[in-house]
Order: sequence, then structure tokens, then C-alpha cells
Amino acid sequence: MRTPLVAANWKMNGSREFAERFFTDLDLEGVISGVVVCPPFPYLSLAAQAAQDKGGFVVGGQNLSQEPAGAFTGEVSAGMLLDWNTHYVIVGHSERRSLYLESNELVAGKFVAAQAAGLIPILCVGETLEEREQGRTLEVVAEQMAAVRNRIDSSAWKDAVVAYEPVWAIGTGKTATPEEAQSVHEFIRAQLGDIGAEVQILYGGSVKSANASALFAQVDIDGALVGGASLDAKEFAAICRAAV
Ligand code: PEP
Repeated sequence: MRTPLVAANWKMNGSREFAERFFTDLDLEGVISGVVVCPPFPYLSLAAQAAQDKGGFVVGGQNLSQEPAGAFTGEVSAGMLLDWNTHYVIVGHSERRSLYLESNELVAGKFVAAQAAGLIPILCVGETLEEREQGRTLEVVAEQMAAVRNRIDSSAWKDAVVAYEPVWAIGTGKTATPEEAQSVHEFIRAQLGDIGAEVQILYGGSVKSANASALFAQVDIDGALVGGASLDAKEFAAICRAAV
């Protein structure tokens, strides 16, 4: 039985004041899913303190370097994330892939670096609108998964989370229908091999409290990676409450 998981990706939003208010307002009463909050790096320590004080959630990074240390100005290593009491880290978000040109191979390197340090990578995969319209959704997702699979033992998937995030649904207000999402999630689970039944596969792309229950009702959707709606503590908690 997989525990549901809901993760917040604040992206480059917020401020110290916003973060303090968010954690004060965050009420996870009645939530049975795991909850991860991924703020920008400068607020990780504040978030980790709130997690320790309130309980009910843990903290994740939004990105990391594939390198352990060295002359990589502006980068943050897995070990540094651990020092911030971070449990998870997002790797391969579509914004990193498209805006910062992160290749499948680089994303795989980050996945490996995260796991080597004891962090749980949340591997984002998903197709663009153009790729979907060309009928290439499964091919693209398979390539993204294969780059990681080539670098790990299959048993390592059990210490990872996969997030299916169709690029055309991120921040656009368009969500994949529950059936569209389910069919890709089923494909991803098959790609994970024997261990697939144990791996949490999240859906991401304009998830809100209004559409969360229908998505979570699908057999292979184990929770959500939430962007815009995670900036509102009440809305985010409502999404978490929908995950059963
Ligand atoms: C995301 O950033 O991972 C995401 C899914 O964003 P949104 O929920 O805003 O579409």
C-alpha cells in the first residue's frame, strides 16, 4: 500500500514574511498523506524549523547540483540541503529543463547525487504540448525515465518519487483529465519494473482543491506536486486533505 504524498513547489515566490505567515496558517488537521514543502533555498531553514515545531510535513529543495562540492558558483549540493534538514529534492522540473537547458543526463546526475546523500529525489517527467500533439507523450516520458534507469539499480526507485507533469498543464490552468493522467501514470509504473507497485507517482499541473479528488481517485495517482495553489496555505491544505 502506497502512502499518498502531496508536495508544494513555491518556485521563486515568497518572502520571509510570506513564509512565516504560510507556516502559521498551515493547518494539516485531518491530513493522512505525507506532505512536503519546497520553498526557495533562503527559506529552507525557516521551513525546517516550522516543520520541527508543528510536525505534519517535511521540507524539500527545488533543485541541487550534481556535484558534491567545488568551484560551481551559485550551486547548492545535496550535502548542503541535508544541513538544512531537507528530506526531498525536486529534480528535472520542466522549468529547469526548458529555461536552464537541463538535459536528461544532467537530471539523472542530480537524481544520483540526491540519493547518494540520502535525499529522496522527486523526478519530474512530462511532455510539451507539441510532443503530445505529435503523439509522442509516452516516448518522451520513457526517454526521461531511461536516462535515470541507466544510472541506478532498479531497487533505487523505492527511495524516489516520480512526478508526471505535462508541461502544457503547468501554471496554465489546464489540467490533464484524470483519465489522461492515469494512462501515463500506468505507463510510468510499468517502466519502473517489479518495484513499480511500491513507488509513489504524483501528478502535477494546475492541481487545485476543486480537481484534486478526481485525480486522486485514479488507481495510479498517489498524490500531487502543486505549484501555484501551494502558495495559499488553506488551498494547499485542502489539496492535502483530498489525498486518501
Ligand atoms: C509545478 O510547478 O510543478 C506545478 C505543477 O505548477 P502548477 O501547479 O502551478 O501548475
